[in-house]
Amino acid sequence: MPSVKLLLGTRYSALFTFMKYTLYTLFPNLITPWLSEALLAKAIERGLIEVDVRDLRNHAGNKHNRVDDTPYGGGAGMVIRVDVAAKAIAEVQAESTPDEIILLSPAGETFTQKIAEELAAKEHLLFLCGRYEGFDARVEKLVTRELSVGDYVLMGGEIAALTILEATARLLPGVLGDAKSHQQDSFTTGLLDYPEYTRPLEFEDEKVPDILLSGHHANIEIWRRQEALRRTLERRPELLARLELSKQDKKLLQEIREQRVKDEGDQKL
Ligand code: SAM
Repeated sequence: MPSVKLLLGTRYSALFTFMKYTLYTLFPNLITPWLSEALLAKAIERGLIEVDVRDLRNHAGNKHNRVDDTPYGGGAGMVIRVDVAAKAIAEVQAESTPDEIILLSPAGETFTQKIAEELAAKEHLLFLCGRYEGFDARVEKLVTRELSVGDYVLMGGEIAALTILEATARLLPGVLGDAKSHQQDSFTTGLLDYPEYTRPLEFEDEKVPDILLSGHHANIEIWRRQEALRRTLERRPELLARLELSKQDKKLLQEIREQRVKDEGDQKL
């Protein structure tokens, strides 16, 4: 099967392509629909990113297009051959030099926003999506990094690769409508994002906090910072421990703790 190239479209092509992504998979049709809608489709059309989805089976090198074989030593499942992966990588390297060759694997380093930021500064990422029992372990020497999207096992690396593609693409200039919108996202600031509200003003007895209706932007900023601190303290305290807190953050956290003590006291009454 020929590779599927989603290149820049037409009228709106940008002066630069900020990132090229090449994805090797046994199931290109799982990936391409994801790229044909919403912000990724727009980014491709505008030439901000280029996504090249290639079929690993093109490198099977046998008439049955078999890319996998039984594991040495026995056991369940099939393993993708290292020579297939090597040929696939060599094909891309013959055309250009990817900055990173990423193997998707549950055994890899856990993908984070920090890694997304690091990868978004590169120009060409090549992904190897596994299936079955994954790749022959010797593939590890052919890649520059191994990434996992979390401590669970997927059926294949396609969703993992798309996760990394989305998380990096949205950091590139022009991909999001409002460039500022990712700057306050969860993890980017080191904290979880503050809670957001929109209409209706009241829903099932719960009203939007008054402060957000006050029009007082400085106070709204302080409230949002405190809510981001509160959420992080309650849900992901380990993130707070890593953060360098300003004087104002410490004061806001102190208020949260005092409020908690007071609420606990009130409950006991
Ligand atoms: N036997 C492997 C293990 O336990 O580590 C799992 C193989 S999994 C069924 C098949 C493929 O899905 C992997 O080669 C990898 O590409 C992908 N995959 C599954 N879970 C993943 C995760 N958490 N992060 C990244 N890729 C994952």
